[in-house]
Amino acid sequence: MYWRRIIGVAQRLVKLAYEDTHRTLQAQEVAFLVGAELHNPHASLTIDESLDELELLADTAGLHVAGRAIQNLKQIDPATYIGSGKVLEIREEIARLDASVVIFDDELSPRHQRELEEAFGENIKVLDRSALILDIFAQHASTREGAMQVELAQLEYRLPRLTRQWTHLARQSGGGGGRSGNGGVGLRGPGETQLEVDRREIGRKISKLKEDIESVRAHRGRHRAQRDRLGVPVIALVGYTNAGKSTLLNRLTGAKVYAADQLFATLDPTTRKLELPGGKSALISDTVGFIQKLPTTLVAAFRATLEEVTEADIMIHVVDASHPNAEQQIEAVEDTLAQIDMPRIPRILALNKIDEMPELPPAPKTAEPYDAVVPISALKGTGLKDLLAEIERVMIENMEAIEVKLPYRRGDLLALIRENGVVDEETADEEGVLIRAHVPPRLAARFRDHAR
Ligand code: GDP
Ligand code: MG
Repeated sequence: MYWRRIIGVAQRLVKLAYEDTHRTLQAQEVAFLVGAELHNPHASLTIDESLDELELLADTAGLHVAGRAIQNLKQIDPATYIGSGKVLEIREEIARLDASVVIFDDELSPRHQRELEEAFGENIKVLDRSALILDIFAQHASTREGAMQVELAQLEYRLPRLTRQWTHLARQSGGGGGRSGNGGVGLRGPGETQLEVDRREIGRKISKLKEDIESVRAHRGRHRAQRDRLGVPVIALVGYTNAGKSTLLNRLTGAKVYAADQLFATLDPTTRKLELPGGKSALISDTVGFIQKLPTTLVAAFRATLEEVTEADIMIHVVDASHPNAEQQIEAVEDTLAQIDMPRIPRILALNKIDEMPELPPAPKTAEPYDAVVPISALKGTGLKDLLAEIERVMIENMEAIEVKLPYRRGDLLALIRENGVVDEETADEEGVLIRAHVPPRLAARFRDHAR
């Protein structure tokens, strides 16, 4: 009886969710992109490439991009960022295309945003790259820590805008009720409860969130300690967004991590067990993709995944080798890793998407050395045997040599060597077992007391 009622409710919920998705797709908002070409000798992307990336981001947020405009700017207009002539031009364009969202590639000040919305008209939302990325984070954060990190970033983004008595952002959040999404775009997020809160309340919320994040982190630290006790090596997948990390994780482990032709399809660390050909196992973690021009204020929202990376024993850097900017993307990832003080752990470079290339790509020029470079196709499953073999080889090569005499009652330590290391020589006498072996560096310390 009860069961039937529960199933009935579940079916209704599924139907509602389906209809909601359907409605969202029908009501897909039309966006228009704006990029400004300022004189910048350090820009590693052309303005077109940068807008291509912005378009992928907009796509990920569920928007349909109908057009773009580029302006050659000598200096930023204090009121409208771009020049007033360009503003009028864009105003006509968006009316023609029936666009409702204008997205700027660069950071807009609160004043820019306000003046632009005034200039474009009542129903036009103006966003910048940061706001768009935050919106995507809010849609994709799936763990509690990820969601809290995003909420924190959103509140910090809003705070300076509120000090100027500016309420547009509140209007933009559109009562969507947080991450459930209502088809509207533009700062879904902490939700409509923020509509009327003043600055002090946001400040309070920020400190509370910071505390909560700390406590969730401490909890995660305990998980890590547990993992360390087991001695299982951890492999981290890193790489530019859309490189194929999630696809590779799925292929290698049969896991169902959401893989899509979208940026930020994954935000939170997803860890799975990986069986290596020689019978050893490892844990493998997926991470959120890196991008160029990641606003510095958003780096904190990445920490949840990046921390996982710094704790790993081996790193696999996945790159879309078929991408014309493959080398710049490798560089952007390496730069970000340097920023988070990535320790020197063995690194493997996986040249992905070779199915898209007429011939095998040469090893790219990289600033960092790699222990192995392996061409693969995560989609077709090509080269994965080689990749697994290289992971195992690199893992064993980086083990530490130990020579220990273990008393018979320490069968646990013996098992630890057998499961995670390589035994080179083993002899037994009445006191115990004499072993020469190689073990993962993180386990070596546990054998010090028994060293010969
Ligand atoms: P992530 O952002 O690095 O996690 O990338 P995903 O795994 O989500 O993949 C991004 C897109 O690239 C998806 O559309 C995948 O189907 C596609 N993709 C991944 N690996 C390959 C590959 O080896 N070949 C081709 N042609 N496409 C791939
Ligand atoms: Mg992914």
